[in-house]
Amino acid sequence: MEPRTGVQWSGPQNRKYLASPLARRIVDQSGLRFNFAKSRGNPDWRPVVRSEQVVYQLGLTLKGISMNIILFGAPGVGKGTQAKVLAQEFSIPHISTGDVLREAIKNQTPLGLQAKTLMDRGMLVPDDIMIGLIRDLLGSDRCKTGFILDGFPRTAAQAAALDGIFAELHIAAPSVINIEVEETEIINRLSQRYVCKNCGAITNGEVDHITLKDPCQKCGGVLYQRDDDKAETVKKRLDVYHDSTAPVKAHYESKGILRTVNGSGTVEEITGRVLTALKRA
Ligand code: AMP
Repeated sequence: MEPRTGVQWSGPQNRKYLASPLARRIVDQSGLRFNFAKSRGNPDWRPVVRSEQVVYQLGLTLKGISMNIILFGAPGVGKGTQAKVLAQEFSIPHISTGDVLREAIKNQTPLGLQAKTLMDRGMLVPDDIMIGLIRDLLGSDRCKTGFILDGFPRTAAQAAALDGIFAELHIAAPSVINIEVEETEIINRLSQRYVCKNCGAITNGEVDHITLKDPCQKCGGVLYQRDDDKAETVKKRLDVYHDSTAPVKAHYESKGILRTVNGSGTVEEITGRVLTALKRA
C-alpha cells in the first residue's frame, strides 16, 4: 500500500467508514485523529476501510516518531499477542527472544541445548548470549524499517547493552511500552495459555472457551501448553521478573521514553491503548 494524502480523518465521527469491527474498536478506544486516504479501488469513499489501513495510516504518522518498539512487562501480560498484531499491521518484524530460544531448542542447536535447562526452570539465559543474539538480529536487513522487541531487555545489563547497540548501529531511540496486569490475572492467564504449533497464535482457554484438545481457532493446527507455563515454573518466572527484569522499567523511565498501558481487557482494547501510547511517545 502506498501512502497517499486525503481528507482529514477524524476518528469516531467517521467510524461508519470502517468496514471491520476491529478497525472500529481501535478508533473508538484510542480516539485517534489522522489523515485518511482515498484508495485506488475506492474512489468514492465507500466504507471499505479495514483495520490494516487504519493502523497503516497511523504507522506512517508514527514513523516520524519511532517504529523501534520495545514491549515490556511481566510474563503473561500479553506482549506476544500485541507484538503479533503490531508487527502484522506495521509490517515490521516481531523479535521475540523467547521464540528464538524455543526454535533453537526445537532444532537442538548448541544455543538451544544450553537454554533448555534454564528455561525449563524459569531462569534467564546468560546476558552475554542474549546480547550477542540481539546485536545480530537488529543488525540484519529485516530490522531496517523498525522492529518490535518482545522479551528483551530483561536485565539492567541487557538494557545498558541495548543502548550501546542502538548507538553502534545508528538506530533511533525506541518507544517503550510497559504493559501492566494484576499478578493474580497473570497466573490465571498463564495456566490456560495455549499456543498453536502451526501458526504460533496464542489463545486463552477460559476466554476462548477451548481446551487443549480443540484445534487452533485461526488455522486448525494443534495447540500445546508451554512447559514453562506450568504452575511451579510460572512462580519462579514471576520471581525472576521482580528481581531481575523490573529494574529495566526504571532504566527507560529515567530516559522519559516509557509509557505504561493497562493490559486488562480485550485484545482490541489493549491494541487501542498501545497505539495511543505510541502516538504520544
Ligand atoms: P518468553 O517467551 O519471553 O516468556 O521467554 C521464555 C524464556 O526464555 C524465559 O523465561 C527465559 O528463560 C528465556 N529468555 C527469553 N528472553 C530472554 C532474555 N532477554 N534474557 C534471558 N533469558 C531470556
